[in-house]
Amino acid sequence: PPPGSPDIEIARAASMRPIIDLAQDRLDIPAEALVPYGHHKAKLSLDYIASKADAPKGKLVLVTAVTPTPAGEGKTTTSVGLNDGLNRIGLSAMVCLREPSLGPCFGMKGGAAGGGRAQVLPMEDINLHFNGDFHAITAAHSLLAAILDNHLQWGNEQNIDPRRIVWRRVVDMNDRALRNINVGLGGVAHGVPRETGFDITVASEIMAILCLSTDIADLQRRLGNIIVARRHDKTAVTARDLEADGAMAVLLKDALQPNLVQSIEHNPAFIHGGPFANIAHGCNSVMATKAALSLCDVVVTEAGFGADLGAEKFLDIKCRQSGLRPDAVVLVATIRALKMQGGVAKAELGTSDPAAVERGAMNLRRHIENLQKFGISPIVALNHFVLDSDEEIAVVMQVCNELGARCTIAKHWAEGGEGAEDLASAVKEQLEQGSPEIKLLYEDDAPLTEKVETVAREIYRAADVSFSAAALRSIKEFTKLGYGHLPVCIAKTQYSFSTDPAAVGAPEGHTLEVREARLSAGAGFVVMVCGDIMTMPGLPKRPAALDIGLNDDGDIVGLA
Ligand code: ADP
Ligand code: MG
Repeated sequence: PPPGSPDIEIARAASMRPIIDLAQDRLDIPAEALVPYGHHKAKLSLDYIASKADAPKGKLVLVTAVTPTPAGEGKTTTSVGLNDGLNRIGLSAMVCLREPSLGPCFGMKGGAAGGGRAQVLPMEDINLHFNGDFHAITAAHSLLAAILDNHLQWGNEQNIDPRRIVWRRVVDMNDRALRNINVGLGGVAHGVPRETGFDITVASEIMAILCLSTDIADLQRRLGNIIVARRHDKTAVTARDLEADGAMAVLLKDALQPNLVQSIEHNPAFIHGGPFANIAHGCNSVMATKAALSLCDVVVTEAGFGADLGAEKFLDIKCRQSGLRPDAVVLVATIRALKMQGGVAKAELGTSDPAAVERGAMNLRRHIENLQKFGISPIVALNHFVLDSDEEIAVVMQVCNELGARCTIAKHWAEGGEGAEDLASAVKEQLEQGSPEIKLLYEDDAPLTEKVETVAREIYRAADVSFSAAALRSIKEFTKLGYGHLPVCIAKTQYSFSTDPAAVGAPEGHTLEVREARLSAGAGFVVMVCGDIMTMPGLPKRPAALDIGLNDDGDIVGLA
């Protein structure tokens, strides 16, 4: 297909190698360590991963980005392209990505398997209920919900206060009508009536648990630690108290195995786990990242949305819990995102406007400064779009120059790995120069409110944090229960450093409004829900689903 063809057409025209062969000659993985799902997808066995625990470890490269437009700025695309570029310049590299959620696929943003010549394959399978992992998470989550309501039905031995149940339900759809619901209606035979609601599966605590677990035992321990409700005496009821953890772990045992696939250029990729970075912690699984590090010299991984969300959580949650540390960081920027940050309306983003790029560059500057607070000097990857003008590109180069940040123009979308060779070389050089001394933003023993204040002040540049009375009550309670040492996972809009999606550029002096605090004792963090963000997204007026279908040959059309 000619350059610029729809992603799905480029993906379908690409050839794929049998995944067993690729695993064997690229990663030295024996066939018996793989659980094939067809010819081009395989799960990697947990026994094999455990057997590699003492293998020498590769270097980790984090890909993050400036504040995105609603279309996304190409972190996944750049991660795939960078991996292809690294392999082209002779390194043994692989990429670790998150699994796409059906919400964005059928909603607004589209799929998440890369784009153009930088995609992972088979694109349709990856975008649509890939190897059943999200369904397993939904099922495990639903099982706990069912066991909990059943416990109330049969006498409530645990003395659960039905008004203090915090375990909600999940489905992997954007379905705003389910945000608030009543269950148990219809009389004595049909359960105990109470108010609850749905979140999207990617925001489930079980998604986070799957992504942070280091083995089956850790998975089961974390599942048991999930707090579902309070008793009338205010003590916490866990999944273990309800004896649900064993059956939940059974539902998740296959899902915990990382999924191996390949890029268009036949380079290996793990795609595993998929929390969003706005309403959850935004990183692929620790299992996949650690396994990849024991299989190759360089591992590229993506954290969701802008560096204020994904990178902050990658460092303060995933790295803090797992001991992982990035050895280099790539900050993806696009001209269109910077123009949007410079105040240009979405419909005008296609017109060259160097002055707007210059204004919007304050967003890039802010993200670079923020990363420096973690001890990181990122390499800027300008993800090139065909409409970018030379004048606009020159502005970005100039800004990076002033900030002392290395900037490379990456053309992997149009050209595949060849277009990302400059970026790959820059990453290689950075890795050879040695790894940064990473500083996490706050100490474990800082109070929960102080952790939020630190992120708000240092990363969002808020002047103030206001906690609702309910949030403060919860935070006090979590601290009393012994969870004050956990990191915070801030749920906030991805479109601004502030909680106001319209506040573009580099806003400061705003107030971060913490509406609600939710304890994820199994995942090991406290979610702070800020501003208007919803843990169940809605669909736009015209969802992408309306243009998706099958043609007469049974091929998918319209999936972007
Ligand atoms: P992110 O991971 O940052 O959310 P993606 O990599 O998923 O972003 O890219 C979002 C969308 O933008 C995809 O549909 C992709 O095909 C498209 N895209 C990415 N880079 C380019 C580019 N350089 N030119 C044109 N389209 C691009
Ligand atoms: Mg992405």
